[in-house]
This record gives sequence, structure tokens and C-alpha cells, in this order.
Amino acid sequence: MATSAPGRPPTTLRLPAWLRSTDGVTQPPQAIFFDIDDTLFSTTVFADKARRAAVDAMIRAGLRADRADATRELDDVITEFSSNYGGHFDKVLDRLGPESFEGHNRAVIVAAGVVAYHATKWRELKVYDDVYEVLKWLAGTPMVRGIISAGITIKQAEKLIRLEVLEFLTPAAIFFTDQVGFSKPNPKLYRRVLQRLSLQPQRCIYVGDNPTHDIDPCNREGWTTVRIRRSGRHAAEEGATNAKHEIRDFFELRRLLQDEYGVS
Ligand SMILES: [Mg+2]
Repeated sequence: MATSAPGRPPTTLRLPAWLRSTDGVTQPPQAIFFDIDDTLFSTTVFADKARRAAVDAMIRAGLRADRADATRELDDVITEFSSNYGGHFDKVLDRLGPESFEGHNRAVIVAAGVVAYHATKWRELKVYDDVYEVLKWLAGTPMVRGIISAGITIKQAEKLIRLEVLEFLTPAAIFFTDQVGFSKPNPKLYRRVLQRLSLQPQRCIYVGDNPTHDIDPCNREGWTTVRIRRSGRHAAEEGATNAKHEIRDFFELRRLLQDEYGVS
């Protein structure tokens, strides 16, 4: 169910919201930008599967630890050292102690974890079916389809390739925070993207899952905001402001764009 902001005056003529919000000039949305993690795919579910597969592989390779204990240590290492730290599995062995790999070369156990993690990545990193279908539909509209994503550039770029959605995006509209020089939630990030593409915020839509990093700054900049609340660690959080629209999947996004913004 797509929700609209309350308090909009009723109109007898059913004009798209976009037309009603301008000075009588037809101004359809120029561009729609997407966040990647927990917007295009379930980062949370994916990460959980990949970590479990890694722990299981390490145990098969000789790690002497309870599966739940090893998984908990791995989760803690990722929390403490960040998901982009390079030595997660080594740290897990450090924490479990030398008895956990006694009689084995620890490098082999670590390698088993790394290989299983990457194998899961190949197999499981997929967009939701509705995301694929709606991005494909959007690619047939005149709108610019972009990405504004925070994280390590090469990792985020790799996700777009693995997710197999690149063909539906506008090549010049893909932005990673490391390259732009501003990170979320700095509103300058969103301003800079629009400057680069000569777009107006009131004619741009941002779709993201994070209320404080995606929705609040875009609201501040005058964008139309769409919050996807489907999964992930931000699903229960609230920001300082509400998104203009909330959706649970991309089919709702398509209906919203068609019904309220006249996109076809
Ligand atoms: Mg996200």
C-alpha cells in the first residue's frame, strides 16, 4: 500500500501530484535514484547466509568450535571492526583461541571461510523479483535511473554488476559516496549529484530504506522521498522527518509512479 502525505486538498480533477505541485506547468519527474543495500536486495539476509556458510566451511576444514559460538564471534568482529575490515575470519580464530585450530594450519581454515563466503556471494546476491521487473519497466520510460550509494566504491560497484541491473540504469547517474566526496547523511551529497546532472530536486525521487541517511537529507533538499520498508536493520527506525511515500515492494513503487506521477 502506497501512502501519500496527509493534508493534501482534494481535487475534483484527478491530476497527477506532480502537476498539482507546480505552477500549472507540466513537470513530470526527471529522475529517480536508488539506494542499494536493503533497497534493491536484502543485504541483511544475504550477509547472514554468507556468514553462516563461512562458519560451516571453517568447521568442515577443522575449526573446533560450536557453530553458534563461532557465528556470534564473527558477528561481533564485524560489528567491532566494520564489515569492510579485511581479516574477519582470522580475528574469529584469535578470539576462539589456539585450541580451536590445534593440529591444523590456521590459514587453511581461514581460506575455507573466505571461499565459502564468496561462493555464497555469487549464488545469493540477487535483486528481489519485483525490483528486477520494475527497474526493467523504468528503463522503458524517459526518466533518468540512478544510484546514490554509500560504501567502498569497488564493493558497491561490484554489487550492481552481480545484481544484474546495470542495463536498466543510466550510466552517468551512478554515484558512490567515496567518489563524490560527501557521505550519507550529508545533504551536500544529494545536492552535488543533482548539480552534476543539472537536475532540479523537486523533480527527483529518492528511494531508500534508511530514514536518517536516505529520507531526512533528501527531504531537506526538496526531493520527493520514497521509503522502502521491507527488511533490514533500519525497518523499525524513525527519522526526523517522514518520507512522502512508503512502500513495501517495487510493485507499489510502480503503481505510485503511474498513478500519482503519470509515469508511463
Ligand atoms: Mg540501504
